[in-house]
Amino acid sequence: MNGDSALHERYDALQARISAACSRAGRDAGTVRLLAVSKTFPPARVLELASLGQRAFGESYLQEALPKISACRDERPDFALEWHFIGPIQSNKTRAIAERFDWVQSVDREKTARRLAEQRPASTEPLNVCLQVNVSGEATKSGCDPAQAPGLAGAIAALPRLRLRGVMAIPAPTDDPTLQRAQFASVRRIYEALLDAGHRLDTLSIGMSDDLESAIAEGATMVRVGTALFGSRPRQQPAI
Ligand SMILES: *Cc1c(COP(=O)(O)O)cnc(C)c1O
Repeated sequence: MNGDSALHERYDALQARISAACSRAGRDAGTVRLLAVSKTFPPARVLELASLGQRAFGESYLQEALPKISACRDERPDFALEWHFIGPIQSNKTRAIAERFDWVQSVDREKTARRLAEQRPASTEPLNVCLQVNVSGEATKSGCDPAQAPGLAGAIAALPRLRLRGVMAIPAPTDDPTLQRAQFASVRRIYEALLDAGHRLDTLSIGMSDDLESAIAEGATMVRVGTALFGSRPRQQPAI
């Protein structure tokens, strides 16, 4: 199969899915941004998708992401890609994240936010941040407890060099659309409570390849899609 045309077809099909989900929800298709999750895929695939018009890309593994960001920038500086870090954040890795990414969606502790704020270079735009919340209560998942969200959001919003944009969540995977909706609805309620508390937010980052319709029905403003765009990832993920 010609990789180029397969990617093009999947990109078109994904945009059609997003539009259909928006129209079912009575929403304008322009209200949902697509984050292309390129983890495990090489710079060439990123640039192929960028040449179709995609600009925002998400990465979970810092070691893999840093050379990829450099390679894409060196090859096509004109694309001016926007890079989002969406993986677990180790304390000793915050500097590279603060220096090389435009967004971090996986902030779930004040200590991480403080380090990112201190390490964000003064010469760049503030780092866009989403607070990751854990609505499925799984001990192994990252994300703060929903009860901590108001306090953490306040702490992040008060830090210099960071711009709190919203909330990100990865609910427990399920095929049941009712359960998908229920989990996304609890994320939406956290987001709305922060809006009510006066935070100026525009990003509700929920929904991935298998559940983006449910997320859009619950108000997602950003969906993070890997598999449905690039195909299935190798089972062996690169070491962090
Ligand atoms: C890998 C990943 C995605 C994309 O998942 P797909 O099911 O491949 O679409 C989205 N969000 C996060 C945080 C991820 O780690």
